[in-house]
Amino acid sequence: MKRVKLSIYLALVFYSSSVLTLFAQSGNQILDGIGETGLIARYVFDGNLKDWSRNNLHAEIKNGSPEFVEDNLFKKALALNAGNNTYISLPNQTLNSIESLSVTGWIFFKSEADNQFVLDLGKNNSSHISLKTTEDGRGIQSEIISEAKCVFKTIAKGLEPNKWNHFAIVLDVASETFKVYINGKHTEETKLEGIELENIFNTENGKNELYIGKSLASNIGNLNANLHDFRLYRIPLNNSQIDNIYYNSLGRENRVNEHHEENNDLQAFTDDEPQLYNQFLIGVYDVEVETVVGFLPRLPRTIDGIYSKGFNGPKVRVIWPAPTDNGVVLKPGKYTVTGTIASSKIVPTAIVTVKADTPLTTPRKGLETFTLDAVSLDIDSHGHSTKFIENRDKFIKTLAETNPDDFLYMFRNAFGQKQPEGAKPLGVWDTQETKLRGHASGHYLSALAQSYASTDFDKVLQLNFKTKMEYMVKTLYQLSQMSGKPVTEGGEFVANPNAVPFGPGKNSFDSDLSEDGIRTDYWNWGKGFISAYPPDQFIMLENGATYGGQSTQVWAPYYTLHKILAGLMDIYEVSGNEKALEIAEGMGAWVDARLSKLSIETLISMWNRYIAGEFGGMNEAMARLYRITNNSKYLETAKLFDNIKVFFGDVNHSHGLAKNVDTFRGLHANQHIPQIMGALEMYRDSYDSEYYHIADNFWHKAVNDYTYSIGGLAGASNPANAECFISQPATLYENGFSAGGQNETCATYNMLKLTRNLFLFEQSADFMDYYERGLYNHILASVAEDSPANTYHVPLRSGSVKHFGNPDMKGFTCCNGTALESNTMLQNSIYFKSSDDSTLYVSLFIPSTLKWTEKKVTIIQTTAFPNEDCTKLTIKGKGKFDINVRVPAWATKGFFVTINGKEEKVNAKPGSYIKLSRKWKNEDTIELRMPFQFHLEPVMDQQNIASLFYGPILLAAQEPEPLKEWHKITLDGNDISKSIKGNPKTLEFTIDGVLFKPFYNTNGRYSVYFDVTLQ
Ligand SMILES: [Zn+2]
Repeated sequence: MKRVKLSIYLALVFYSSSVLTLFAQSGNQILDGIGETGLIARYVFDGNLKDWSRNNLHAEIKNGSPEFVEDNLFKKALALNAGNNTYISLPNQTLNSIESLSVTGWIFFKSEADNQFVLDLGKNNSSHISLKTTEDGRGIQSEIISEAKCVFKTIAKGLEPNKWNHFAIVLDVASETFKVYINGKHTEETKLEGIELENIFNTENGKNELYIGKSLASNIGNLNANLHDFRLYRIPLNNSQIDNIYYNSLGRENRVNEHHEENNDLQAFTDDEPQLYNQFLIGVYDVEVETVVGFLPRLPRTIDGIYSKGFNGPKVRVIWPAPTDNGVVLKPGKYTVTGTIASSKIVPTAIVTVKADTPLTTPRKGLETFTLDAVSLDIDSHGHSTKFIENRDKFIKTLAETNPDDFLYMFRNAFGQKQPEGAKPLGVWDTQETKLRGHASGHYLSALAQSYASTDFDKVLQLNFKTKMEYMVKTLYQLSQMSGKPVTEGGEFVANPNAVPFGPGKNSFDSDLSEDGIRTDYWNWGKGFISAYPPDQFIMLENGATYGGQSTQVWAPYYTLHKILAGLMDIYEVSGNEKALEIAEGMGAWVDARLSKLSIETLISMWNRYIAGEFGGMNEAMARLYRITNNSKYLETAKLFDNIKVFFGDVNHSHGLAKNVDTFRGLHANQHIPQIMGALEMYRDSYDSEYYHIADNFWHKAVNDYTYSIGGLAGASNPANAECFISQPATLYENGFSAGGQNETCATYNMLKLTRNLFLFEQSADFMDYYERGLYNHILASVAEDSPANTYHVPLRSGSVKHFGNPDMKGFTCCNGTALESNTMLQNSIYFKSSDDSTLYVSLFIPSTLKWTEKKVTIIQTTAFPNEDCTKLTIKGKGKFDINVRVPAWATKGFFVTINGKEEKVNAKPGSYIKLSRKWKNEDTIELRMPFQFHLEPVMDQQNIASLFYGPILLAAQEPEPLKEWHKITLDGNDISKSIKGNPKTLEFTIDGVLFKPFYNTNGRYSVYFDVTLQ
C-alpha cells in the first residue's frame, strides 16, 4: 500500500465586486491558460447544475429545486437561501484518482452569519476539508480534518458581504505546502507534513461526500449566498492561473494558447555547468547540408563530438534555430547556421548550400502491409504469454461482451427512433448532451473490423465480431437512408445538404442535444447524412462557432465523423460489406456538397479553430474513399480539408511544412497529427509531392524536437495546455513537462500510424526505431494490469502515476476510443513486404507467425524479446526472396546473424536494414542476436535530465511517494552499466537500491526522467 503524503495549498481569493465592469463573461479554462486536462468539473450555475467540463459530473440540488436569480455581473446566478435548507451535492466519484485538488468559485454572501458552509468535501465528518464563514461573518475559515484530527486551520479575513467574492482552494500533494491567496494575491504558505490524501478522501473507490452549502455533519444546507462558476481541478493551480480565472471571468480579453504556465515548479538549473556527456566535450565538427531553393534544410539532430582524453561520448544533440518562414533559402547560394548545445559554450555550425530550383524527388510506395489476418501473435519461446497477447485479450474479451445497441444509442436518439430493449447510453463523451457523441461508435466499428480480422484462432469470437459488425452497419444504413427523404410518401423533406433548415420551432442552428432540445427532423437533414447528432454542429462551424459547452458552440463535428467513416471503411475492407461503403459514400457526398460551396477564407478559419475545427483525418478518410471507389470527387473533397496555414504557410503555398517550415509549434497535437496522415494518404492517391513533403517533414520535426522518451509528444507548459506542442521546437524542458500531464495516448497512436505509412514509402530504419519506442514504451504501457482500462495522458514528471479509465467499455474519452483500435492491431507492423513480393521486411521482434500467401511461405518468429536479446525466424515452405532485417539504432554492441546454425558475415550498422538473400528452403532458420546495452537519453535542452533505456526498453524507477524534484542518480561516466545491478531476463534492475522495471510493467508511482550525474 503506498502512502501518499499530502500537502495543501489552499488559495482563497476574495475580490470585491465594486470595481467590476458589466461585461463579465464566464471565462474558459482553456483560455485561462490552464488547459482542459486539469479540469475535473465546472458548474457555471447559469440556469442549471450541469458540469460544463467534458466529464459529465453534473451536480444535484437537495432539499428543494434550484433557484436562479438575475445578476448584474454574471447575468444569472444560483441562489441558496439558508431558510430553504437547500444545498448542492456533487457526484461521489468526482474526486476519483486525484493527486491534488483545486477549487475556485464566485460567491455573493447575503448574510454575515457564521458557520455557513461554502464547501465540505471528504470521506465523512472525521476526514474532510471544509470552508465556512467565521464568527464575525467577514472571513472564511478553512479546515482540514484527517482521521478526526484537525491538521490545518486558517482564517482569511476581508470578506465583504453583499458583494461578489472569488475564492480558490488548492491542494498540492507534491510540494507539501498549504498556501492561501486573498484577492488573487498569495498571502501565506504553510508546510504540511505527514498528512495523507487517502485519510481525507477515498481517491480510488469514489465514496466521498461532496457538498456545496452544507457541512458533512448536518442534513440541511445553511449557506445564504449566490454562487457562480465553481470549478474543480485535479492540478494545483498557481498564482497566474488563479489570476487568469479571475480576470477572464470579468471580461478581460482572452488569449488562446498564448499563456505560459508560470511557476511551472520544474527545477531550474544554471547554464554555467556543462551537463552529462557535455562536460567531456571539447568541440564538434561542422556539418554541411544541401537543400534547394525554397526548402529549409533538414539539419542533423545530432553531430559528431570531440571529447577530452579519449572519452568515448555519444553524438552531440544540437538545437538549431527554427525559422517561421523560408526567407533564408529563397535564392541559390551558401549560408551558415549556428546552433546551440544545451549547457555548453561550444557553437555548432552548419554550412548550407542552397541549390537552384530543382524539384525534390519523392518516393513511390514500395511496400505493403500484411493484412491483420496474415499475422498472428504467438506465445514466447519459453511458453509464456506476452504483453502483446495479454493486452489484446483484455480488449477483445471485453469487446465481445459489449452490446452494439449501446453504441447505436445516440444515433437512434438523433433520428428520434425507439431504443431496443436493453440499450443503454454510453457515458463520458457519448452522453445525451455531449456534443462529441458517436465518437466511440466510430472507434468501435474499427475495433470490430480489426478484431474480426485478427481472431481466426477462435471461430466463436470471430463470429461474435462478425455479427456485431453486420448489425452496426445494418442499423446505421437504415438511419442514413432516412436522411433527407420524406417519412411517408408525399411528406415534406429536404434532400439538399445545403438547404437544411433550422430545427422545428427554432430560429437558429444550435447544438442543444438535451432530451427536450434536440431536433430529430431527419427528413430535413439532406440526403446521406449520418451522425449521432443532427447536422447543426457542422453548419455552425461554417458560421464561426467556437468550441465550448453552450448551445451556440460546438465540440468537433468532423472529428467524430472521421471516426465513423474510417470505421465503416475498415469494415468494408475486412468483410466486403457494401452497405458500409454506401453509408460512407452518402455522407462523403453530403460533406462535399457543403464544403465545396465555402470560400477558402472560411475553410482556413474553420480548420484553424481550436478543437472546433479538429477534423481528425477527414482528409485521409475522403482520399481513402476515393482510393476504394475510384470516384475522384472524393479526392477533391479531401483537398477541402487541407490545413492551408500549417501545410503551405498561406494560400500561395509560400512555405509551411511542405517547405520544411515548422508551422505546428504551439498547436494542439492530436488536432493536427491525423491531418498529416491525411496528407500522406493524399500523396499515395495523387502523387502530388507537396503532400509527401508535409508528412515527411512533419514526422522528422515531431520526432526530433517534440518527443518524450516514451515516444509520446505534446505536454506544453508554454502554451499552457498539456495537449499542445511546445511553443518553440526543441525546448522540451523549458516549455514542456506541463503540470497537467504529457503524452496524450491517442496522439501516439496517430504518430505510429503515420510512421508505419511513411515506412511504406521510404524504408528507413529511423521510422521503425521510433515505432518500436512508441509501441513498447507508450502503447503497451498505457493499459491497466487486469482490464482494458487505459490512459489519457501519461505524465512523466518525477513520481507520477498512470491513471487508467474505461475498464468496462461504457464511457470513452478520445484516448479510450483510440485504445480500442491500438490494441486490436498489435501485430500489424512486425512484417512488411515489397509490392512486387520480392522482399520481406522484419521490423519488430515479437513472437508471431506470418502467412505470406503470395509466396506460399510461412515465417515463424520465435523469441522472448525483450526478455532476451535474440530472435529466430523459421521458414516453412521455400522460395527465392530477400529478407530485410532491421538493425535497431540501439544495437550498438553488435548485430549477429546465423543462418542454419552458421554465422553470416554482415555489415550491420545500427539504425539500418540488412538484406539476407537466398533461395530459402523449408525449415531454414535465421537467428538474430543484438546485445542490449544501457543508454541515457537526455532532454534536448536540459542534458542532465535523462531517461534510462536497456535496449529498446524504457526503465522506470519505482517510487514510494510523490516527488517534487527529479530523482537523482549518479552513474559511471565511462560505463554506466557499472552502476546498475540486476537481471536482464526479468528486465529488473537496481540503482542505489531503487528498483527499476520496464515502464510497460509499471503500475504504481514512477520516475522515468532522472537528474543524472556522471562520475
Ligand atoms: Zn486522446
